[in-house]
Amino acid sequence: MTLITNHMPTAELQAIDAAHHMHPFTEDKDLAKKGARVITRANGVTLTDSDGNEFLDAMAGLWCVNIGYGRNELAEAAARQMTELPYYNTFFQTTHVPAIALAEKLADLAPYDLNHVFFASSGSEANDTNIRMVRTYWAQKGQPERDIIISRRNAYHGSSMGSGSLGGMSAMHAQGGMPIAGIHHIGQPDWWSEGGAMSPDEFGLMRARELEQAIEELGAHRVAAFIGEPIQGAGGVIVPPSTYWPEIQRICDKHGILLIADEVICGFGRTGNWFGSQTFGIRPHIMTIAKGLSSGYAPIGGSIVCDEVAEVIAGCEFAHGYTYSGHPVACAVALENLRIMDEEGIVDRVAAETGPYLQQKWETLADHPLVGETRMVGMMGSLVLTPDKASRATFAFDAGTVGLICREHCFASGLVMRAVGDRMVISPPLVMSRDDIDRLIERATRALDLTHARLKQDGMMKAAG
Ligand SMILES: *Cc1c(COP(=O)(O)O)cnc(C)c1O
Repeated sequence: MTLITNHMPTAELQAIDAAHHMHPFTEDKDLAKKGARVITRANGVTLTDSDGNEFLDAMAGLWCVNIGYGRNELAEAAARQMTELPYYNTFFQTTHVPAIALAEKLADLAPYDLNHVFFASSGSEANDTNIRMVRTYWAQKGQPERDIIISRRNAYHGSSMGSGSLGGMSAMHAQGGMPIAGIHHIGQPDWWSEGGAMSPDEFGLMRARELEQAIEELGAHRVAAFIGEPIQGAGGVIVPPSTYWPEIQRICDKHGILLIADEVICGFGRTGNWFGSQTFGIRPHIMTIAKGLSSGYAPIGGSIVCDEVAEVIAGCEFAHGYTYSGHPVACAVALENLRIMDEEGIVDRVAAETGPYLQQKWETLADHPLVGETRMVGMMGSLVLTPDKASRATFAFDAGTVGLICREHCFASGLVMRAVGDRMVISPPLVMSRDDIDRLIERATRALDLTHARLKQDGMMKAAG
């Protein structure tokens, strides 16, 4: 066997990758022709690839590296824990210090009476836990028929059978027998694409009231829970109109339906508070967490559960758990990540300083001839590419065609920005400085200019008919 290292020529690494590695959400044959980009190292907010190119990572990996790369304290916390107790389970009436300490820390950080944590290794697993937990909750309360969970189209809640079913991604549902039974989807609060002639506030109310209509059609006695991301992330950083969440909350309260806030992206400072629920005034019974919990340094997720639900679940043996629920090394890394976030006041800085600065700069991009709406909350934002902003037009090509062109120009300009259809989204490390933000905006502007020039040259600034 060859020893595979960072020092191998890129083409060789790509060939071995193509021969043996199946990539998530990727057409592998297509990728094999181009060769995958090989990332070899990272520090702060900068990635380096195997050809020595550097990129400003405006996506924090996959929405997760909130404290930035290269924090040795986290590596040291992992090494210490591996030396002391690399693994033990939390199944059979046992526990260990990292799980105890992290559960207490999360109960302390989480708002309201969200005081109890069920650990998983990812957001997908945590949402699978949530499906079973809310159904078990109602069964324990003598209402087993209350088993439907309402979610939204274009939501993302993970990629397992359960969490992918909760999500509202049609391309995912087209493969492998999703959604599972008992999941109902309503419309999303995406005013730019779907709001028509309504004002954003009218549209937000209208979309929230789809929840009430669904409850009335299904029967409140059948509905266990509603789940939503405070801001849809993978769906394109869709910031709901301000009328949306208060109305959702009112409807859940009125019908006694559990509310699950999927905080996998919005949690841990992303929106300028510890949790997106605080930014939007949501009072959830359960919050899903993952990603920023460990800043991506170790795979860990979980559900933070309110007193009442935890109390009911505690009354039975909840026959559920993962080998790595509360993995000691992942817990130790998450604790160190949260300690640093506290000590360096990272969430406060996003709220008071870098978030507003990024927002102000990001909004200037709305003047670009290719850009429609720009949105930024804390440090997650999106902009819409459009051939005509006055009419909120889409391009006369398959959704995503123009987004991909723009994404390529971002890479060529030394910037990682993600395309979701024809929206460009960012979710940078929360430790970005003002200088980093200036560089981000400069590079984004260059990529937009190059994209615009290319579209004009190829006669592609055409609206769908
Ligand atoms: C990424 C994500 C998930 C899934 O988390 P994984 O760790 O990839 O399983 C769930 N919910 C939201 C909102 C996410 O963004």
